Amino acid sequence: MQVLVIGAGVIGLAVGRAAARRGHDVVIAEAAEAIGTGISSRNSEVIHAGMYYPSGSVRARHCVAGRRLLYAYCAEHGVPHRKCGKLIVATSDAELAKIETIAAQGRANDVEGLELIEASEAQALEPALSCIGALKSPETGIIDGHAYMLALRGDLEDAGGAIAFNAPVTRAGRKGSQWTVLFGGKDGGEFEFDAIVNCAGLGAQAVARSIADYPESRVPRLVLAKGNYFSCAGKPAFSRLIYPTPVDGGLGVHVTLDLNGRMRFGPDVEWIAHEGYTVDPARSDSFYARIRAYWPGLPDGALTPDYCGIRPKLTGPGEPAADFLIDAPAEHGLPRLVQMFGIESPGLTSSLSLAEEVASYLVD
Ligand SMILES: Cc1cc2nc3c(=O)[nH]c(=O)nc-3n(C[C@H](O)[C@H](O)[C@H](O)COP(=O)(O)OP(=O)(O)OC[C@H]3O[C@@H](n4cnc5c(N)ncnc54)[C@H](O)[C@@H]3O)c2cc1C
Repeated sequence: MQVLVIGAGVIGLAVGRAAARRGHDVVIAEAAEAIGTGISSRNSEVIHAGMYYPSGSVRARHCVAGRRLLYAYCAEHGVPHRKCGKLIVATSDAELAKIETIAAQGRANDVEGLELIEASEAQALEPALSCIGALKSPETGIIDGHAYMLALRGDLEDAGGAIAFNAPVTRAGRKGSQWTVLFGGKDGGEFEFDAIVNCAGLGAQAVARSIADYPESRVPRLVLAKGNYFSCAGKPAFSRLIYPTPVDGGLGVHVTLDLNGRMRFGPDVEWIAHEGYTVDPARSDSFYARIRAYWPGLPDGALTPDYCGIRPKLTGPGEPAADFLIDAPAEHGLPRLVQMFGIESPGLTSSLSLAEEVASYLVD
């Protein structure tokens, strides 16, 4: 089958790889000039264990399965990563109850090794930490997201797939048993494919609207939730990831570590109307307050605006978090079309597992 994957972020690359390895002839069309320039290069690069998501949700299933696949993939392909573990910390009685709920949800989701620990044990692990108890997650880790995407690209190309850059998809529709797709860009034009997978991230809704016959009523709302990061000068105060309890729309301003030994804080949740990537330095005020709840030693003036990413959410402030949405032919009735919406966190962790599910829908 000739398969068009739209978007060369981590999801499109993983889907393209999985489809090519099943013997399909795969082209990934990417509007930008390189892989991973969208959400996939603006995240925390955390391999999530999978304890936050409701039982039976798409996110719970793919985060846990994807995490296991991802560690094996990194080991096999030499992708830099570190299973550094994480602590979710409680600083009040209400938060203690929250981490107990997260621990129970994690066990229900089949997350290995979760352990509720006393403050003294948490402080023995991380002396700079202030808390009254913590949930220890040994399976959480960090990854070099770009090296991972390069490895996926290599696999795709080894299996005969290709990426077309500067190739924005502008319109698609059925013609006989084929999909006809119109591309913009300087080498644009009309081409035919047997199947289409929409992995366009923040552009997924626009792409879905450009596909004739796909009902407008099926295109979910796109809600933008920016996550800002601040870097922290000096030697990291922690050796594991430290998370507060989750907040509306995100996991809370946490300590992220990268593989180069740098420490940063974020992402917060800033609901925005239009895409934009500047980090407002004034947001650091709220960061200091939130971080000092678990790290009182954060020095004044240590935080510097770093980067930000935008979550492609399907629900807004105060509403229950939406699940990943995979709209497949069995649901919408159009042959060989798969649309992916709302692939926010933990999309990076889930990518290999999500890709297997999507590739399984590429049948006649
Ligand atoms: C702040 C933040 C922190 C996160 N932290 C983590 C984390 O620690 N761990 C984790 O597992 N996940 C995390 N995530 C989630 C993860 O980053 C995403 O789920 C993942 O990167 C989504 O990848 P994608 O391929 O769907 O989107 P993208 O990477 O955005 O790729 C989509 C691509 O489609 C292209 N495109 C758009 N429209 C068109 C068109 N018409 N034609 C052709 N191409 C088009 C775009 O140019 C883009 O390259 C985080 C997300 C955010 C925002």
